Amino acid sequence: MSPSTSALWHPFADMGAVESSPLVIDRAEGVTVWDEDGRAYLDATAALWFANLGHGRAELADVAADQIRKLDAYSTFGDYGNRPAFELADRLAGLFPEAGAKVFLTSGGGDSIDTAAKIARASWYHRGQPERVHLISRTHGYHGTHGFGTAIAGIPANLGGFGPQAPDASVVPHDDVAALEQEILRVGPERVAAFFCEPVIGAGGVHLPPEGYIEAAVAVCRKYGVLFIADCVICAFGRLGTWLGIDRWPVVPDLVTMAKGINGGVVPLGAVLVRDEVAAPFFPGSPGAPVLRHGATYAGHPVAARVALSALDIYEREGLIARGRALEGVLADAVAPLAGHELVGDVRAGLGLLSGIDLGPAVLEALPGAPAIWQMGCREAGVLVRPLGRGVAVSPPLTVQEQDIARIGDALHAGLEKVAEAVGAVA
Ligand code: PMP
Repeated sequence: MSPSTSALWHPFADMGAVESSPLVIDRAEGVTVWDEDGRAYLDATAALWFANLGHGRAELADVAADQIRKLDAYSTFGDYGNRPAFELADRLAGLFPEAGAKVFLTSGGGDSIDTAAKIARASWYHRGQPERVHLISRTHGYHGTHGFGTAIAGIPANLGGFGPQAPDASVVPHDDVAALEQEILRVGPERVAAFFCEPVIGAGGVHLPPEGYIEAAVAVCRKYGVLFIADCVICAFGRLGTWLGIDRWPVVPDLVTMAKGINGGVVPLGAVLVRDEVAAPFFPGSPGAPVLRHGATYAGHPVAARVALSALDIYEREGLIARGRALEGVLADAVAPLAGHELVGDVRAGLGLLSGIDLGPAVLEALPGAPAIWQMGCREAGVLVRPLGRGVAVSPPLTVQEQDIARIGDALHAGLEKVAEAVGAVA
């Protein structure tokens, strides 16, 4: 069947443009993906920030097949459990900077966000502060497309057309701790449940936190009793060179959301790590411990959990977590020369294996579609990058080699030539 006749509705896509020319990915191995015509591309985005292990890990295919034969699927609602889910929860809890963390398994990042929002509110409710419902997030922040994740979106375009959002949410400038404190005081500290913070903002265009921001934001949250939720859906599993992402800083978060790299994206899975005192009302020892009436059918899915356990083994065995940090300077050096290009406005890199490069304001004014032209130029040069906001982003698998990173830099330059041609055509 020709893809142009497919009923498939692509997420975040201009379907008019996609139907005429989808890029049909056929197979993938390591840092390379091939389209249906056999053309190879360097995957400089690790798909959607998730293929941290590189593609095509036979070991993961084997454990998935083995698990499907043994116990294909079962729920963990009520008193049902399965060994992979128990083991995974314990290993993830061991990554939390304090003992006693609990782990809620989810189907992906957006599910983790909504789970975290509800756990934060319910925890306050059962700790005698039911008025603590307000959620604060940051400009440029992306927290998925579920209900709460949409309500706390820091990317205004993602709210368009969806009508009113869940109330009791507000957005503060992403780089300003004083603004966070003012907002907590404006709302009333006794009404604020939690602050959502991506350590490095990803999908909103790769924005690194200013020096000292994370420590200061955690301190402000502590001062007013606000829960600090580290959204590490992108930042965990080596993207920032550490297991959780937020553990790059000497802070203890209250909740950590994760997905993507948890199993390299091979099977949909996410998780929320919850600090002991936040989870405590729902566990034995709490008087009349209430039931958290929340959770999705696939929470604790044994195949997803088994694959994640093997993925964690691979991260450990191959030393991949530290590689995200070891390579951050290499990537930063590869993209730094772009700052001198007349079409480029800003280059952000140097903290973890991810980078965002913006076009200058004049280019975007003359040609609002320039980021997509840049993406296509890179694609012609054999490298997949992602158009984001005012430019493009790169976030290769942690298995990337230094020469691959050099190729990414070259492709970004080659792609800019296409942007220059297009700007010339409209000038
Ligand atoms: N939080 C962050 C920081 C993300 O980057 C994403 C996805 N890009 C999400 C949440 C939502 O994850 P998912 O797309 O798996 O629902």
